Amino acid sequence: MKAKVAINGYGTIGKRVADAVSAQDDMEIVGVVKTKPSFEARIAQEKGYDLYVPAKENIELFKKSKIDVSGTLEELLDKADIVIDATPGDTGEEYKKLYGKHGVKAIWQGGEEHELTGFSFNSEANYHDALGRDFARVVSCNTTGLVRVLYPLDKAYGVRKARVTLMRRAADPNDIKTGPINALIPDPIKLPSHHGPDVNSILPDIDITTMAVKTSTTLMHLHALNIELKKTASEDDIIKIFEERPRIRLVSSKDRIKSTAEAMEFARDMGRPRGDMWENVVWKDSIAINKGELYFFQAIHQESDVVPENVDAIRAMLEIEKDGARSIKKTNKALGI
Ligand code: NAD
Repeated sequence: MKAKVAINGYGTIGKRVADAVSAQDDMEIVGVVKTKPSFEARIAQEKGYDLYVPAKENIELFKKSKIDVSGTLEELLDKADIVIDATPGDTGEEYKKLYGKHGVKAIWQGGEEHELTGFSFNSEANYHDALGRDFARVVSCNTTGLVRVLYPLDKAYGVRKARVTLMRRAADPNDIKTGPINALIPDPIKLPSHHGPDVNSILPDIDITTMAVKTSTTLMHLHALNIELKKTASEDDIIKIFEERPRIRLVSSKDRIKSTAEAMEFARDMGRPRGDMWENVVWKDSIAINKGELYFFQAIHQESDVVPENVDAIRAMLEIEKDGARSIKKTNKALGI
């Protein structure tokens, strides 16, 4: 029998997770929750997802727009084994009570604090610790990107310290409300940005400090990493480690991928749904050992890198698959990673 998954918050992340879940043979979407009738609601229905609303008051709005609604969130919860909460950050506490009341497991996203669930998830780093859990949080896009490279480096060579500058996209491509349009904003102005502590919610022993700058782009985040390893490693050693990882895509500027724009074009040319790039894009030719320290650049597609992690988290929490590597392989195969 397939695991029954509900999506509460069908926006940038929610709609992508819904499609990724539908692509798996061991889980299915039982319904998605939309607050307002919109083109996204219509498309969700065209895809065959049953639409639900947060509360009875929302039904009238949908009726006026001639969009059928299958019921309320509470009714959906009674049909689900697990809910993916991809609502905007800070609604967590309120919904946690509701999910608990209906005995449904739940996965939140990076906009919520670690404390909400007491457990933050990354497929490679701590799949095993998620087995059977009721509540978990898949960390943010940036943190997922950082953990994907720091975890294997720490395992193989030991990370003495990591210093990272994150150049963050200011808004998602569909967002017309957020800036800057023509500025760079040190954000926060004083160290550290929240990303370092967030990495520590999964890898508590790594000495990491992060600074972040908001940039006037919507495509991807760009990370500049400087890492001191405990054991000596060559550039080729690092390349080999990254080549073996399931969700790192090595690219090269020699191959004309010199920017986030070309990295996104690459994903579109591969025929990825919505032009998504689920993997970290690491520039192979940026990997440098300089004065004994490792440096490289990576780009992170904020709209999609957490999507396969959500699928793995479902499998772990429902104990459909006990082995993390096997779940990652299965998710990747179904998505075409
Ligand atoms: P979004 O604004 O694109 O989508 C949120 C959806 O939730 C919208 O469809 C909205 O209508 C709906 N919603 C709002 N209030 C609701 C409520 N009370 N009940 C049910 N639905 C409600 O947001 P997003 O970018 O998908 O972000 C969702 C979560 O994922 C946040 O925690 C965010 O921090 C995290 N996240 C976002 C990104 C990103 O780059 N967009 C990346 C990783 C993680």
